[in-house]
Order: sequence, then C-alpha cells, then structure tokens
Amino acid sequence: MRSRPVVTIDGPSGSGKSTVSKRLAEAAGMIRIDTGAMYRAVALAARSEGVSWGDPVPLGGVARGLDLSFRTVAGASRVFLSGEDVSDAIRAPEMSMGASAVSAHGPVREALVAKQREMAREGGVVLEGRDTGTVVFPDAEAKFFLDAAAAVRARRRQLEISPPGAQSFEEVLRDVLRRDVQDSTREHSPLRVADGAVYIDSTTMTVDEVVGEMLRRLPGVPRG
Ligand code: C5P
Repeated sequence: MRSRPVVTIDGPSGSGKSTVSKRLAEAAGMIRIDTGAMYRAVALAARSEGVSWGDPVPLGGVARGLDLSFRTVAGASRVFLSGEDVSDAIRAPEMSMGASAVSAHGPVREALVAKQREMAREGGVVLEGRDTGTVVFPDAEAKFFLDAAAAVRARRRQLEISPPGAQSFEEVLRDVLRRDVQDSTREHSPLRVADGAVYIDSTTMTVDEVVGEMLRRLPGVPRG
C-alpha cells in the first residue's frame, strides 16, 4: 500500500506534459518521472551498441540493462546514461523518432514499465508519458490526459529541440503528426485516455492555468 499518491499525466508530443509535470511536482512536493526520456535513452543506447531500432529481442536486452539516472545539476534536471549526461543528445529529432520506434516493441515496454513501477513504488510521484495511466499505474490516485491542437504542440516542441533551430516549424509539425499516428495505432500500449482520467485541452491555456486545474483535483484524492 502506498503512503503517498501517484499522479499520471499522459498525452501526445508537445501537449505540455514536461513543463506541467515539473511545475506540478514542485508545487505538490513530489518527484517527477519522465518516462519519454527512458524510451529516448533506449534508442540512444541501442544506437551506440549497434542494435537496430526494429529488433525487439536485443532491444529488450538494451532496455533491461539500461543504467539510467535522473539528477538535478545546478537546479536543472538532467538525464545520465552509464554516467554520461545525455540530456541534450536524447532531445535530438532523430532520437524522437527512435524513441517512437523502440517503444512499439513489447520487450522494451515490459522492461521500462517494470523500472517505472519500482521507481514509483512508494508514491509521492508524478509520472508523465503515453501509458502511465493506462498501463503503468491504472490505479493511480489522480490521472490526467493533456492535449492541444497539433500546430500549438509543434510550436512548443520546436522550442525544446536540441540544438535550437535544428528543424523548421513545418518539419517539426510533420514529425509530431507522424509520431501521433505511430504512438496511437501501435499494438502495445497505444496512446489513449485512461479510464477515469481528467481530459485537459491546453491549446488556449497558460501553464499556470493547467497546473492550477490539476492541483485543484489533487487534495481530495484518496490516499493509499
Ligand atoms: O514524451 P517524449 O516525446 O519524450 O516521448 C518520446 C517517445 O517515447 C514517444 O513518441 C513515444 O513513442 C514513446 N513513449 C512511450 N511511452 C511512454 C513515454 C514515451 O511509448 N510512457
């Protein structure tokens, strides 16, 4: 039994999950787990180990062996893979498509879902991703699905890409739409609104408004 709640935020690329989950975690005194960063790290590790993004069995091995940690360095949250800071490398456009490719494979999902459940076992955690409310924690105390119009999502995404300006708006929009299709039509854990999730369309909302809306729904949640 958890002593503190688990909160899940799922939604498509650029819906605002990263910004909102960081702010919500800070405001509620919880830890944030960026599950997308884990799929991106598998894509990067596979590339450096010479494993194809289309090969489920060896990819499962890469995911199980992933030596990943999230650390705060000078006030910013950074991602380390085998001791190396890969925070920028995993945000390259190629790794977005790589993450979407590797995440479609069952063995990769099983390995990362197990790690996510272990990391959030004691609660007090905000998980963000595509399946955190449907598969990882269907019994979470609060679940949200964050959405926004595709053009708005592409504009937000463009601001996060490393290096800045690496892709035009049109290229980012094309990739966002392609990932939407890949992520919502795949066989394993497709992106969908979890049962009991609160749907929030952030197209015309500020970050403060979205976080405020979520916080309003936290106090009354049943605690483990
Ligand atoms: O959220 P982010 O853009 O970093 O996620 C990268 C990719 O990882 C997504 O397009 C999706 O294919 C995959 N992903 C997933 N399940 C999650 C989180 C991310 O399949 N829980």
